[in-house]
Amino acid sequence: MDFEIDEKMSTILTMVNEFVERELVPIEQEMLHGDPETLQALVVAAQAKVRQMGLWAPNHPVDLGGQGLTMVEHGLLSEALGRSPLGHTVFGAQAPDAGNIEILHKYATPEQRDRFLRPLVEGRIRSCFSMTEPETAGSNPVLLAATAVKDGDDYVINGQKWFTSSADGAAFAIVMAVTDPEAPPYQRASMIIVPTDTEGFNLVRNVSVMGHVGSGHASHAEVIYQSCRVPQANLLGPEGGGFVIAQDRLGPGRIHHCMRWLGIASRSFDMMCERANARVISTDGDTLADRQVIQHWVAELDAEIRGARLQTLHAAWMIDRFGAKAARDEISAIKFSVANTMLHAVDTAIQVHGALGVTDDTILSYWYRHERAARIYDGADEVHKTSLGRRILRRYAPAH
Ligand SMILES: Cc1cc2nc3c(=O)[nH]c(=O)nc-3n(C[C@H](O)[C@H](O)[C@H](O)COP(=O)(O)OP(=O)(O)OC[C@H]3O[C@@H](n4cnc5c(N)ncnc54)[C@H](O)[C@@H]3O)c2cc1C
Repeated sequence: MDFEIDEKMSTILTMVNEFVERELVPIEQEMLHGDPETLQALVVAAQAKVRQMGLWAPNHPVDLGGQGLTMVEHGLLSEALGRSPLGHTVFGAQAPDAGNIEILHKYATPEQRDRFLRPLVEGRIRSCFSMTEPETAGSNPVLLAATAVKDGDDYVINGQKWFTSSADGAAFAIVMAVTDPEAPPYQRASMIIVPTDTEGFNLVRNVSVMGHVGSGHASHAEVIYQSCRVPQANLLGPEGGGFVIAQDRLGPGRIHHCMRWLGIASRSFDMMCERANARVISTDGDTLADRQVIQHWVAELDAEIRGARLQTLHAAWMIDRFGAKAARDEISAIKFSVANTMLHAVDTAIQVHGALGVTDDTILSYWYRHERAARIYDGADEVHKTSLGRRILRRYAPAH
C-alpha cells in the first residue's frame, strides 16, 4: 500500500492549500453575512485566478482539461479544497457537477458531450441531479415513482423530485425515472438529460434546510416534472442503465465527499487548538489548553481524524488498484465513519469555542448546520452499516 504522490501533485496541493488560506478563508465572512451578488462576484474573481494558475477543474480527466488524477490524488485535493466551503466551487470541482461530469464523460454521446459536458467542465453552465422523491424512500431507489414514457421520438417525464441540489440556475438536470416498470427492479430506471428550460420542468421551491432557503448553487429544489418532453436522444447511457450509472456516480464520489469532510474536520481541529491556546480561563493566566479534558479531546480527535484519513486513502488506493466494486466494503465503511468523525470534530470545536462557536462569527456553525446531512445523502449511515455488516457476516456463515 502506497499513498505517496509525485512532485507535480505535491506542488499542486501546496498551491491549493495556500490559495484556500489566502484567498478563500477571508471571503467566507461575505458568504456568512453578505449578499449573494457580492459573494458571487468574489467567487468569479477567485475562479479567474485559479484558471490563470492552470488549476481549473483539476479533478477531471485529461481530455477534459483536468490533471488526470488517481483516486488517492483526487482525495487529497478534495481534502485541501474542503477546508473552505468555497474551495470546490472556486476550483470548478463542486458537487453535483463533479459527479455529473464523471457520468457524462463515461456515457455521453458525442452530441451530449458538445452540448452538456464541455460547457459544464468549462464552468459556463451548472447542472443538477434529480433522483430523490419526497413520496418514496430515497434509501431504496427501486421504489422510484417518476416515469419517462416513450412518445414518438421523445420521452415524456412525470414525477415529483426534491433535494435536486443546485437546480436553481442550473442549465440541465440528469433525471432518474422509470422507463420500463415490467423490467427486473434494477433495470427499470434510466438517466435522462433534461434542460431546465424545457416546458414541464417546474422548480416549485428551494426547500428550506436548517433555517436556510438558499439560492443558486447553494440550494435544494423541489421539482415537478409535468408532461416534460425531451428527445430520446437525451437518454444517458443505455435504457434501463440508471442504477449502474448511479453506482458509477457514487463510488468515487464518496472518496470526494469523505476527503472533503476531512478538510472540514482538520480545519475545525486547527481552530479548536488555536482557541484552546488563546482562551484564558483563570486569573493566573491558565488557558483552556491547560485543562486535561481539552487535552483529551484534542488527543482523541487527532487519533480519530488520522484514522479516518488513512481509512479513506486506503479506500481510494483500493479503487485505484482494484476498481470501485472490489472496494465496496471500504467505501461503505468510510461513508458512515468519516461523516461521523467530521461531525464530531465540528461539534467538539464548537464546544471549545463556547458561545462564539454557535455564532456565525466563525465558520463552525455553518458546518454544523450544513454538514449534518452527511449522514443522510449518498446512503444513510444505517444503509451502509447494514450492507457492510451483512457482507462481513456472510463470510463467516457456515458452509452447507
Ligand atoms: C443536503 C442534501 C443534499 C441532497 N442532494 C441530492 C441531490 O442532489 N439529488 C438527489 O437526487 N438527492 C439528493 N439528496 C437526497 C438523498 O440522496 C436522500 O435524502 C437519501 O438517499 C435518503 O433518502 P430519504 O431522504 O428519502 O430517506 P429515507 O429513505 O426515507 O430514509 C430515512 C431514514 O431511515 C433510515 N433507513 C433507511 N433505510 C434503512 C434501512 N434499510 N435500514 C435501517 N434504516 C434505514 C435511515 O436512518 C434514513 O436516514 C440530498 C439530501 C440532502 C440531505
